[in-house]
Amino acid sequence: MKESKWVVDEGSIWKVGDGESIHIWNDKWCPATPDNYIHSGHQSAHEVHYVKDLIAQDTNQWNMRLVYTIFSSSEARYISMIPRPNQRKADSLVWVLVDSGEFTVKSAYNMIMEKMKPPCSSSSAPHSQDMWRKLWKIKALPRCSDLVWQACKNILPVRKRLTERGLIEDPVCPLCGEQDETVVHAMLLCNEVKKIWFASPLAIQINDNEVTSFERWMCCMLSRGHDDGMIMVFTLAYVIWSRRNQWVLNNKILQLHEVIAKTNSLLATGLPDKKPQTLNDVTKCRDDCFNISIDASLRANVLM
Ligand SMILES: [Zn+2]
Repeated sequence: MKESKWVVDEGSIWKVGDGESIHIWNDKWCPATPDNYIHSGHQSAHEVHYVKDLIAQDTNQWNMRLVYTIFSSSEARYISMIPRPNQRKADSLVWVLVDSGEFTVKSAYNMIMEKMKPPCSSSSAPHSQDMWRKLWKIKALPRCSDLVWQACKNILPVRKRLTERGLIEDPVCPLCGEQDETVVHAMLLCNEVKKIWFASPLAIQINDNEVTSFERWMCCMLSRGHDDGMIMVFTLAYVIWSRRNQWVLNNKILQLHEVIAKTNSLLATGLPDKKPQTLNDVTKCRDDCFNISIDASLRANVLM
């Protein structure tokens, strides 16, 4: 049971009912924070431990005065966004890796297999097998590859997904405020994100009419992109998601030059054995190294 706890932690989030089963700082229950945990406040400084302690017993609503006293203003705001049920009911665990939201041994097993085993054995469609094999072969930092995998599997905790599960009420993208935040919007189609892809030395143009899912876009990139170019694509994807989370969590938005700097830093971290290849280096040699990537593949019609 102990060994399986990480599976539950990885794949689920608490949906708050009466709050009696949920520990404020040890459980995942706040959908709007990037990792669904609450980080601010200090448990020893307050006489609260469980989420029930934050709910006014007479009204069954959040005790916002207490919430704002204990937590940072951004996390207090995220707590206030969690809808309260009309009637008193128990907390429930929502399994986020399948559309039904219900935990099954099979879905947990599939998740473990997909994550832990060679990816070529995890999918049935031939093009999928090939894609996962290529994805894990790219020598990006593990955290970058993991993020791309999660985006391809459509399991990033974007607002549209959380809204559909009744965990929050507002599905709109926190960056542009114009459209619902789906995975493909958060990673590619948001105007705040398109400019990053285009400003990179890979000069990737994202066309709304051609991109329908992150997975299909990535599949196309993997089938045509140069390995070094794909390391950069993975790293940029990771920075784009981190930038979104930093905005959600700290109200701080990384400017374009900061995005480039962070990407360079991660690229250098991931290449300890050879001269770090940064975005500037790539710019210098793009005629040679990235001719195929830019002219033939990355800017080709990506019909998805
Ligand atoms: Zn947006």
